Amino acid sequence: MKKKILIINTGGTLSSVNSERGLIPGMKSGDMLDELQMVSKNLELETEDFSSLDSANIFPEDWAALAQRIGEVCIGYDGIVVIHGTDTLAYTSSMLSFMLQNISIPVVVTGSQLSIAHPVADALENCRCAIHMAASGYPGVFVAFNRKVMLGCRASKVRTMSFDAFESINYPYVAEISSLGLHIHKENLLKKRGIFHPQTSYSDRVFLLKLYPGMDPEILEYLLEKGYRGVYIEGFGLGGMPFLKRDFIGEVKSVTERGMTVLAGSQCRYEGSNLSVYETGLQAVAAGALQAYDMTSEAAVTKLMWVLGQTENIREIQEYFSVNIAGEVQREGV
Ligand code: ASP
Repeated sequence: MKKKILIINTGGTLSSVNSERGLIPGMKSGDMLDELQMVSKNLELETEDFSSLDSANIFPEDWAALAQRIGEVCIGYDGIVVIHGTDTLAYTSSMLSFMLQNISIPVVVTGSQLSIAHPVADALENCRCAIHMAASGYPGVFVAFNRKVMLGCRASKVRTMSFDAFESINYPYVAEISSLGLHIHKENLLKKRGIFHPQTSYSDRVFLLKLYPGMDPEILEYLLEKGYRGVYIEGFGLGGMPFLKRDFIGEVKSVTERGMTVLAGSQCRYEGSNLSVYETGLQAVAAGALQAYDMTSEAAVTKLMWVLGQTENIREIQEYFSVNIAGEVQREGV
């Protein structure tokens, strides 16, 4: 029996058309079926339109609705491909990794740098990779791009124009297409650790703050006053923050004592943070900051949103950040 794959289209460049207003998502998934079938030999494809949006216009409520939809339909398919704009794709794939943890089929998110209608586009190659990963039988949330497959919560868009726009950050690729075909590195896949049910609650009262020399620490007080429940701070190098002249760490202490979750990571893309090396990190941890370690920025922000959607209990929040939920973090003791 042929394996059944569902393609869910959300929009983005892959399905875009030229218009007087610029490049806009315009094609429906049915319009792309002939092309998609060309790269899906021996598979049965079905398509569904979820939205037709540039991914700048995808919001957390769309992630929850998409996860909900995937949760409803996954039982009927061997795999699901989500077509998505590349700009915020890594946020969506990261959040889907949390919301759809322990799903028993592959969910593979892809997009492209050129429209499927363009004669030299990367669109079909990316769809080919995503569709065959979706048919692989290996469960989880993945991103397929430029003949590589990565965990959904490790993907990040690192180039604006080239076809190798995505990288797997601080984690090896889980599959690659080469002259060996689709080669899956099984040792890099996640083990199913529990039963699946979509967990779509989240809090959008979360802020991403990139530290720069001279930043006024008052910003944290302002965020608390505005009702933000969590902030992910991208600190310097291994995650350091200032405490002389302008006492940023003092302000971290002040807001964490009043219930705000402060997650601290690095503004360096590679190799992750470690706040236990310098005084500027150790003091931040003593002030109540939790560590993001080697998470991508997208995974850190969406994990913070997701965790704050599960609980308000500070102990439980700390516990969520001390464990690896979907492959997002890999550090000793995590
Ligand atoms: N602006 C587009 C989007 O993210 C870019 C793309 O799909 O490559 O929807």
